[in-house]
Amino acid sequence: MPEGDTIHHAARRVGAALVGQAIESIEMPHPRHRLDRWPQRLANRAVESVDAHGKHLFLRFEGGLTLHSHLRMGGKWGVYRRGERWRRATHRAWLVIRTAAHEVVQFDGPVLELMTESRTRFDRRLAALGPDILAPDLRDDHSGATPRWDERAFIARLRSDDATRSIGDALLDQRTLAGIGNIWKSESCFIAGVDPWRRVGAVTDSEALEIVRGARPLMQESARRGGRITTYAGGGHGGTWVYERAGLPCRRCQTLVCSRGQGDDNRITFWCPTCQP
Ligand SMILES: [Zn+2]
Repeated sequence: MPEGDTIHHAARRVGAALVGQAIESIEMPHPRHRLDRWPQRLANRAVESVDAHGKHLFLRFEGGLTLHSHLRMGGKWGVYRRGERWRRATHRAWLVIRTAAHEVVQFDGPVLELMTESRTRFDRRLAALGPDILAPDLRDDHSGATPRWDERAFIARLRSDDATRSIGDALLDQRTLAGIGNIWKSESCFIAGVDPWRRVGAVTDSEALEIVRGARPLMQESARRGGRITTYAGGGHGGTWVYERAGLPCRRCQTLVCSRGQGDDNRITFWCPTCQP
């Protein structure tokens, strides 16, 4: 499942291809949207900006129309030079936007909706999102135009949630913190040395902050670079500390890495029982 860093990376690439460019065509070939007439509504409008909040991506068109996308488990954004071969089959394309130089393609949906600017602001799901772990620092705020990363807002949301819930499960709740998925949940708890099974009530504020402070720079780097997530760079080839390493020796202490489904959605968590007390 694409996590916040992947979506921010996609927003940069899509923005670089579309913002300031003349849009030649917009197609929505998927049957679900074939009758929506969005291409007609978006015709002759420039893309003003492309941004992300957590795992949500927004293409903002001239005149206050915004395309909102969420990839859930299997969707993907592709940016190709004209004539370049797409990396997924044509019939999986839900949205195709062409400029003279590029084709921007959204594959496999599954959430794609055209909204007015005011609806993006008041939509209940979007308004409920927690602070974006990939948002720029609060101290760099000069304009107030873009939402900033706010540690206090994260802690306040964490504390207003059920204190008996495990911290690993709470980190996935996009209302508490937007952008973390299964990989970063496991990796950030390892990096901070916190057992993902500890109840939120037994995790101190400084431990919770250590989890996000460890993940943030790595996620920012991943959002810049794209590609596979690397948190561990030892031994000549990169990888993860614990994610998808169940049964293998911990890279730090040699204890075998554990894994188990966690939370209501039973999302699998990886951890080292020695390094993460
Ligand atoms: Zn260990």
